[in-house]
Amino acid sequence: MSQLAQHAVSERNIPDPALRARIVAGERISASEALLLFQHWPLHDLGALAFARKRALHGDVATFIVNKQVNPTNICVHSCKFCEFAAKPGDAHAYVLEEDDIIASLADPDLAEVHIVGGLWKTWNFERALGLVRRIRATYPALWIKAFTAVEIDFFAKCTKQTWQQVLAQLRDAGMDGLPGGGAEVLSERVHQELYKDKMGPDKYVAVHEAAHEMGITTNCTLLFGHIETDEELVDHLIQLRASQDRTLAHGTGFEAFIPLAFQPGETGIRTSLISPMHCLRVIAVARLVLDNIPHIKAYWPTLQMETAVAALTFGADDLDGTIEQERIMHLAGSGAGRGLNVELMFRLIRDAGQVPMRRSGRFDRLMEPAKAAVAAAMVPSPAAPKDFVATSALEADLAAV
Ligand code: SF4
Repeated sequence: MSQLAQHAVSERNIPDPALRARIVAGERISASEALLLFQHWPLHDLGALAFARKRALHGDVATFIVNKQVNPTNICVHSCKFCEFAAKPGDAHAYVLEEDDIIASLADPDLAEVHIVGGLWKTWNFERALGLVRRIRATYPALWIKAFTAVEIDFFAKCTKQTWQQVLAQLRDAGMDGLPGGGAEVLSERVHQELYKDKMGPDKYVAVHEAAHEMGITTNCTLLFGHIETDEELVDHLIQLRASQDRTLAHGTGFEAFIPLAFQPGETGIRTSLISPMHCLRVIAVARLVLDNIPHIKAYWPTLQMETAVAALTFGADDLDGTIEQERIMHLAGSGAGRGLNVELMFRLIRDAGQVPMRRSGRFDRLMEPAKAAVAAAMVPSPAAPKDFVATSALEADLAAV
């Protein structure tokens, strides 16, 4: 038998049919089962299981948002080994943005969300951050403001000698809607010590998010993968997020979305090439199956690269994130993905994945923009609608009919 034929046969062999049946039935899986899926399950079947789970949750719709990322400064007190975004004062690539420029950059009637995250530096202290949120809220009342990672919340709290809760309450009162998920990296003390020991570790990351959830503030969570983490650490990261969600959902809010971020090696010396697309798809699929209490999985195209992000929409992801103009962090780290996508291209990419494209709000409400949908339909050779697509709302029916 040729190697190719042997491979085809082995791909048909499911390692544990009983586990497969439990997954199909929607049962929760353990860490050891997740590891088996991640390391040994045939990729096509893993993707099919995760895609089925995604469809049960979200139908054949894949969403995106028109958003902008604002990174007020890249100057940072820390020197995380994986980070090529950060600078020290005086570095050629160091920069500090001014409020007037940030406010002006958000003057886009289509904009639904601003995502604010940056370096930790006294020039952009808590008072200034608070003032920025107030100004954005006053200038753009409808904009969803997703601002400051758990790492920044902790930095503000330390600098102002306040608790996380006090910092979060003031930001919320100023107009902040939610927290982004950055700063988790891998919830492993070993990785923490190895790559970013000066920055907050796993326990504090989870604790800040749980503090926000207890206050009714929704947040996202992330994973930076494809560097020194082991498969076991990666799976444990997912299990820790699921356990945290269980703890706070019953009496607060929780994580709205999980965003796996593929490590961009750049000049870090940690590794020399991007992690493979197949590895990325395995992470997305296993995340969808483990995180049964987190509604959304994002395919974050600036780190996955566009082709893999589009493929991820049939491996468990339900959201292509956003148009993300002005994103600096991954591009300073060497990401070759495009820098900001327009709405029409989002429509095209999602349709190419066989999904129904839908704009969304910052809180994941689905939005219908008939004019934009018509423009997209004119541009895109429309793929056949999935045979068993069932419209579950008037919005989906409208868009499916375009
Ligand atoms: S990852 Fe964040 S905290 Fe670490 S150096 Fe980069 S900007 Fe600073």
